[in-house]
Amino acid sequence: MASKPNFKRADNLATHVLLSQPAFSSFEIDATNLKYDYNIIFDSMQNYCRATGETWDTMGFGAVKNGHTVKINSDNYLVLYNEEHSINRINWTIGHEVGHIYCGHKDDSEISEIETSCFAAQLLTPESPIRKLTQEFGFLDFAWIYNNFFVSLQSSLKRVNTLNSKPYFKSKTSALLLNQFETPTKKLIDFFRGNNTRFMLDIFEAHYLLEVYKQEYEKSYIV
Ligand SMILES: [Zn+2]
Repeated sequence: MASKPNFKRADNLATHVLLSQPAFSSFEIDATNLKYDYNIIFDSMQNYCRATGETWDTMGFGAVKNGHTVKINSDNYLVLYNEEHSINRINWTIGHEVGHIYCGHKDDSEISEIETSCFAAQLLTPESPIRKLTQEFGFLDFAWIYNNFFVSLQSSLKRVNTLNSKPYFKSKTSALLLNQFETPTKKLIDFFRGNNTRFMLDIFEAHYLLEVYKQEYEKSYIV
């Protein structure tokens, strides 16, 4: 087993999924609506228990379990999420579980978890459009990620930290990915330029929301 997380592979796998879709019209990427190389059925852990007669305990879901993948065979999977979580968090959980399938993980080791986080981040907040927007806006802020992508405040904050700490190299693949998101990128740049006051107010609101929920955020997930 690898002793170090393979970020590049996880990132490439998520990019491959995004490039396999029709062009996107929005940054609100719904992980349940993507076309995958595997047959994946999505349902809640609660529904699964109701349908099978299993309980939370017999399934080993635990008190804070976000999601769970049942492998039916090498091509068919059942991805379960916690229906009590916010939709943004569920979207992340699904991206995360799909990451386990793509990366071929057989366990929930720390390395597997890091790789799937990288997969989910690239899947739901793809790097090249965010780099392009950063260049256009002149700044990278979790708030405009949170306001426009289908992720939680926490995931937006983490994404900004990751992007700030890694160098970016343009490549043929990054250009293709940018092309996949040409429509929403253009729309958001037009909004930034055409209604900058509103754009900045939305940013202010997200910062305010973070302050309001900060104490809870420090304990766990928020929205
Ligand atoms: Zn996991």
